[in-house]
This record gives sequence, structure tokens and C-alpha cells, in this order.
Amino acid sequence: MSELAQIGVTGLAVMGRNLARNFARNGYRVALHNRTYARTQSLIADHGDEGTFLPSESMKDFVASLERPRRIVIMVQAGAGTDAVIDELIPLLEPDDIVIDAGNAHFPDTIRREQQLAEHNLHFVGMGVSGGEEGALNGPSIMPGGSAKSYESLGPMLEKISAHVDGVPCCTYIGPDGAGHFVKMVHNGIEYADMQLIAEAYDLLRQGLGASAAEIAEIFKQWNTGDLESFLIEITAEVLAHVDAETGKPFVDIILDRAEQKGTGRWTVQNALDLGVPITGIAEATFDRALSGSVPQREAARAKLAGKTANWEIKDRDAFIEDVRQALYASKVVAYSQGFDQIAAASKEYGWDIDRGAMARIWRGGCIIRARFLNRITEAYERDPELPLLLADDYFAEAVSSGLEAWRRIVAGAAQNGVPTAAFSSSLAYYDGIRADRLPAALIQAQRDYFGAHTYHRVDKEGTFHTEWSLDRSETQQ
Ligand code: NAP
Repeated sequence: MSELAQIGVTGLAVMGRNLARNFARNGYRVALHNRTYARTQSLIADHGDEGTFLPSESMKDFVASLERPRRIVIMVQAGAGTDAVIDELIPLLEPDDIVIDAGNAHFPDTIRREQQLAEHNLHFVGMGVSGGEEGALNGPSIMPGGSAKSYESLGPMLEKISAHVDGVPCCTYIGPDGAGHFVKMVHNGIEYADMQLIAEAYDLLRQGLGASAAEIAEIFKQWNTGDLESFLIEITAEVLAHVDAETGKPFVDIILDRAEQKGTGRWTVQNALDLGVPITGIAEATFDRALSGSVPQREAARAKLAGKTANWEIKDRDAFIEDVRQALYASKVVAYSQGFDQIAAASKEYGWDIDRGAMARIWRGGCIIRARFLNRITEAYERDPELPLLLADDYFAEAVSSGLEAWRRIVAGAAQNGVPTAAFSSSLAYYDGIRADRLPAALIQAQRDYFGAHTYHRVDKEGTFHTEWSLDRSETQQ
């Protein structure tokens, strides 16, 4: 039976095609299928010599070309496309076969699909894949959920095709049902925050120093040799150095300033609201993309609203650059800390038992947020797997507090000079809020008791209390 395929991929657009090639290049026999057969044929024509491919035109032949238990990766347009393929597959499969959805599914859909397939004694693995088309081909970061049993059969293959850092695969079992797609969603949310913070740092350097795009590219290149070293900083330097061939202007200046999104940032924020986890960095980044696309509102505001009150006079250029760097690093720590908080809260809520240190480890390579910094996060969770707040880990607490004055100078300077820094500012506000001895939330609770008899707890004794605000203002214990 050695001629049967070890893994199958259905959906051979950019991502599926590259993932199939990655499996084949790693020595696996790969069954191929796509709704439109021409895509399958073009893959064979262009790359058929890269390994052993078993192409099929029909889903029935595709399923029959796989060894059992079958491992079938679905890499189609997320949503209705995934459901259509699953419905087509179910009658063709046999107990213990494994169906893997590697698309960008929303995790509640993954939970639903896992239940649907379990009724047929089939395993369903919701698998996050990060790294875009380049990662899919050369080694992505892979976040598979589903049953632990399915990982026994699938894990070694996934680990082999994933990115590796220091010989360690960027793939690990995440947890049951929707855990893999959930973690991928938060990864994307963190990516939004990281990109927004980098964009704000760029804007501060441009507006504060009047530096050119090319000069700022050099600054980012320099930053990429230190604590901030990451894929996103690296590509930022490249983008800023790029010149538009048609106009000779910096490339960044010929792009409309409207950032789009496919929706994973929005899902992350919606879930954080449900769980009650303050992920202000990701939320600001998501809202700022929406702000950038609010065209009529921006036009109305530009015409009416006054802006700068003073010219930003920066006396020491190098000191300012260093301040921005430190503020960026501190804000980034906050955004990651919040993302890991969300993973912890979801893990508890949905019973996933996710190892946060392992998440940082598998994000070190292959994915968009890959960074030197993630080693530090893994180390923090190795020191204390139950760490309540990443920001309060000894290393990060020290790193952030040593940059605190710089962070405050930058946020204050930006506010005084009218440079919008939603993510820098909200991250600092979060830092000051989460470390506060006492918050004005006490007043809010008192207001709630006043108008809605929502009760309150006292600092000096146990119990639930209410004050008779409209009567004699006496206090009763509930
Ligand atoms: P895509 O443009 O999202 O989807 C195109 C593929 O889906 C084609 O193979 C198409 O088949 C198939 N398809 C669509 N509707 C279908 C249906 N009802 N039944 C059967 N097949 C259907 O492809 P992609 O960019 O390669 O992405 C694939 C998945 O990976 C998506 O879920 C995406 O969100 C996720 N993802 C993408 C990236 C990225 O960088 N692009 C990164 C990570 C994850 P036909 O050829 O017949 O039209």
C-alpha cells in the first residue's frame, strides 16, 4: 500500500498549493484535490518534480488515494467554502480519519465543526497557520487544535514542515476543539497591535524630527539589531527605504492612508469584550484601522478641527530616537502581555489548558510576529507557568520600568503636539491602571449603586451592601 498518499490537501490556491509542496519537499506522498481541476493540473505542471504528488479530479478519488487513517488538509476560502468541503467529505470518510481545517476559521465555527465530525467518529483539527504564502512553502508557524489523539498521527508531519528555530519546531499541540484557531486569532490580533505601534513610532520620528522616510528606514534597521529585532521591524525598514519607480517619491508617500483588515483583529476584540479582558493595544490598533478608513468623517474633521498648538522643538535628535525606541518596546510588551492574558482567560473559559510559554516558542519562527523578544516570553513562562501578568515578570517589569520616563516623555510630547498615538498612549494608560494601588472604579460602583441599586463591597468588611440613596442614606447589608 506504499503507493497511497500520507497526506492530502484540498484547496490549491496560494496557501494550499504551497503547503502541499512543503509536505512533498519533506518527503511525504501528497494527494491533491481542488474544486476546479485546472488548479491541480497547474500545480503538477509547475512543481510536479518537487516530490510525490497523487492528483485526483474527483473528491471520491482523492479520498481513495489516501492511506488510513486519512489525513486531509482543507485549505479553501474560510466560511461557506469550508462547510461545503466538509459536507462533501463526510460520506466518503471512515472512522478515525482526520480532517484538518488550515484556513482562517473563526474558532466558534471550529468548535461546531468538531462536534459535527465527532458524530461521525471523525477527528477534526482546527489548525492555525501563520506566515502567508512564503511561510506555507518554506516553514510556517502551525497551531493545531483538536483531539490529542489526532496529534499523535499528525504532529510529527506538521512539526517537520514547520519553521524551526534553534532546531525546535514552530508547531505544537495547542488544545481541544477551537484552541488552535483561537490562538491563531490572538496571534493576528497581536500582529495588529505590533504593526500599529511601529506605524506610530514611524509617525513620531517623521513629525517630531522631520526625518525623511529613508532616514527612518536607517533608524529601523538599527533597531533591528537589538531588543526589537523582528520580522515586522525588518520589513518596515525595507518598505521605508523603497522608492516609487513612477514618481521617485518615497513609496510610503504614494499609498492611500487607509488600512484595511480581513477581520481577525475584530474577532479578537469581540472575544476580549466577551471574556472581559482589557486588550487595549489590539483594540486601539483595530479601531485605528477603522479611523483611517472613515473618509467622510476625516474630511469633515480636517476642515473644522484645529490641530497643533506648538512646533515640536526637539533639541537632542539621538535622545528623541532612543525615547521613541523605548516607548515602542514598552508599548509592545503591554500589547503582548494583554494578548497572553486573553489566551489564559479563554483557556480557562473553554477548558483548553493552553501552555502560554509554548505559544511564544512556536511564534519565534515562520509567522508574522516572529521576534527575538518571544524568547523572553517563553523564559518568563518557564520561570512561572502560572504567571498572572506577563508585564509583571521580573525581566519585563525591569525592562518596561527602565524605559518609563522615555515612554511618558513621548506620550506627553505627542499629546502636546497633536500627533495621534492611540496605541502608545493607551498602553501607557493601561500600565498606570494595572499597577495602581487604588482605581476610581470605587466611584463608578457607588454611582451604580445610586441609580440602579447595584450594591457594592466595602474595603473594611465582608459582605454586599446598598445605600438607600433616595431615603435616609442608611446602609443595608444584602
Ligand atoms: P482563498 O482565496 O481564500 O480560497 C480559494 C480556494 O478556495 C480555491 O482553491 C477555491 O477553489 C476554494 N474554494 C472556495 N470556495 C469553495 C467551495 N465552496 N468549495 C470548494 N472549494 C472552494 O485561498 P488562499 O489565499 O490560498 O487561502 C486559503 C485559506 O488559508 C483561507 O482560509 C485563508 O484565510 C487562509 N490563510 C491565508 C493566508 C494568506 O496569506 N493568503 C495566510 C494564512 C491563512 P476554486 O479553485 O475551485 O475556486
